[in-house]
Formats: sequence, C-alpha cells, structure tokens
Amino acid sequence: MSQARLIDGTSVARRIVEDTAKRAADLTERTGTAPCLATVLVGEDPASVTYVRMKRNRCRKAGIESRQVELPATTTEELVGALRALSDDPGVHGILLQHPIGEHIDERAAFEAIAPEKDVDGVTFASFATMSFGLPGFVSCTPGGIMRLLDEYGVDPSGKRAVVVGRSAILGKPAGMLLLARDATVTYCHSRTRDLSSVVREADIVVAAVGRPRLVRGEDIKPGAVVIDAGYNPGNVGDVDFDSAVERAGLITPVPGGVGPMTIATLLEQTVDAAARQLGV
Ligand code: NAP
Repeated sequence: MSQARLIDGTSVARRIVEDTAKRAADLTERTGTAPCLATVLVGEDPASVTYVRMKRNRCRKAGIESRQVELPATTTEELVGALRALSDDPGVHGILLQHPIGEHIDERAAFEAIAPEKDVDGVTFASFATMSFGLPGFVSCTPGGIMRLLDEYGVDPSGKRAVVVGRSAILGKPAGMLLLARDATVTYCHSRTRDLSSVVREADIVVAAVGRPRLVRGEDIKPGAVVIDAGYNPGNVGDVDFDSAVERAGLITPVPGGVGPMTIATLLEQTVDAAARQLGV
C-alpha cells in the first residue's frame, strides 16, 4: 500500500503569518495604530511562560504589538477585573488568556470577561456559538487551524464521516462543531467511549485531540482517510501511531510540523482581523 501524503502545517502556517504581517503593516500605515494583542499569564507554570513568550515573539516579528499582564498569584475577581479592563481598553485589539489558569480560579468567569470582539483565542460562549452556527466570529485557534489545513489540502468535509477523539472545550468540541458546520457527519469519542477502534474505523476524517501517545492505531484507520493529529506528548509524539497510520491514510499530519504551527498562525491572523474591525478598516 502507498504511503499517505503529509500535510505540511509548517509551510501553511508560514504563508499565513507572512500574509498576516503584510496586513498588519498595511493597517498600521493606514490608521497609525499597530494591532495589539494582550497576553494574560496567571501563575508561574514554566510551560505557560514559554508559550506566552513564544507568542509575543511571533507577534513582534509579524508587526503586532503585545502587552503582557502577569498575575503570579491571583483570584477570580482580580483576573476578571484585569480582563474587563483590557476589554475596555481601545489600545488593545485582542486578548489571550494563557491556560491552564489553576484550579482555584473560575475559568469560565474569566473567559466571559473577554469582550467577544477581542476574543481572538475563541474561548467565550459567544465565539463558541458563532463557530457552531458557522457565522462570522473568532474560532478556537487549534480547531480553526485544523479546518484551514483541510481547506489547503482540498478536503471538503461535506457528507464525510468525521470522528473527533477528545471533547475539550478548546480543542475537541469546537473541532467537531466546525466540521459539523461544514456538513460532516460528526461523532465525538471521549474517555467513556466503548470500543474506540470500531468508531475510528468508520471515519473518513479522524481528528485526534486527547493527549495520549499513539492512542489511535494505524490498523483502525480506514484506507485513504484523512488523519489530523492535534496531540502533542513528550518526545514529539502525537496521539496517532504515525508509523502505522501513514501506511493506510490518504493524508496525515506529522507531529511536529502538522497542526502545531497552525495555532499561533491562527491567533496572529485573528488579532489582525480584530484590529481591522475595531479600527474600522
Ligand atoms: P484535555 O483537555 O485533557 O482533553 C482530553 C480529551 O481526551 C478529553 O475529552 C478526554 O475525555 C479525552 N480522552 C482521554 N482519554 C481518552 C481515551 N482513552 N479515549 C478517548 N478519549 C480520551 O486535552 P486538550 O487540551 O484537548 O489537548 C489534547 C491534546 O492536544 C494534548 O496532547 C495537547 O498537548 C494537544 N494540544 C495541541 C495544541 C496545538 O497547538 N497543536 C493545542 C492544544 C492542545 P473526557 O472528556 O471524557 O475526559
């Protein structure tokens, strides 16, 4: 059997970022204001610190300003207050609350303090609703990146059986809603799903979003299926057993270099979209 074609997320993301940088420069020239993303970091988790630093560096390279709010020890009230202040600040066009934010904080209350027009990470109820109905608005960045990869590789979800493994609020659930909005027949799997293999075997499109190394096995991939691996586990290992899946899939994302680079690209793109709308361009 021939090997699957690889989906090159690194190249697609690079093109999106280049295009976003041109749009940011154009917007800055026309309005005298550069797009600005506020990043909010709660606690001192080293991984979160690294992610936020990476996002700010990428913003700078794309001509997007960033403003960092650091709350090493905070309460729900203080965090909500900080997010409301950023929502009201006309100099800030997009807001990213880096998660996880800690068990002691009401994450939903924090997300809902972000104005929908600045919700460039797609975490509010309002964004989830527009995303689910296929209406204009901001999408969760990783699921949005996944849909972009499907479009770039000519995969039309309409009428296809899509199986999403994982149902988290930031990844699995919105990925399924975006596929449904594009007329796929969607099945969600999660930790209580019985006989995962038999469900995955039906799929024309598999999205793995679990955080368990090589959970999805190549022998369960329908020949020719599109396999999107959003998982990232230590040692650059995805949620799909790549070596066996590549032998059966038609198209597959590698880990790394598949879904991963699309998340920041989508964040930057949506920040410029938000700035353009708020600046009336
Ligand atoms: P999460 O919040 O921990 O959610 C994991 C989901 O997987 C849950 O819905 C859980 O089910 C389900 N699950 C757990 N064990 C399962 C099993 N044995 N069979 C089927 N489903 C199972 O994780 P997440 O934030 O969505 O992240 C998932 C993965 O994506 C991680 O590897 C993460 O690193 C990666 N990720 C990548 C990016 C990127 O930029 N590429 C962004 C975000 C996340 P229940 O709901 O029943 O608990």
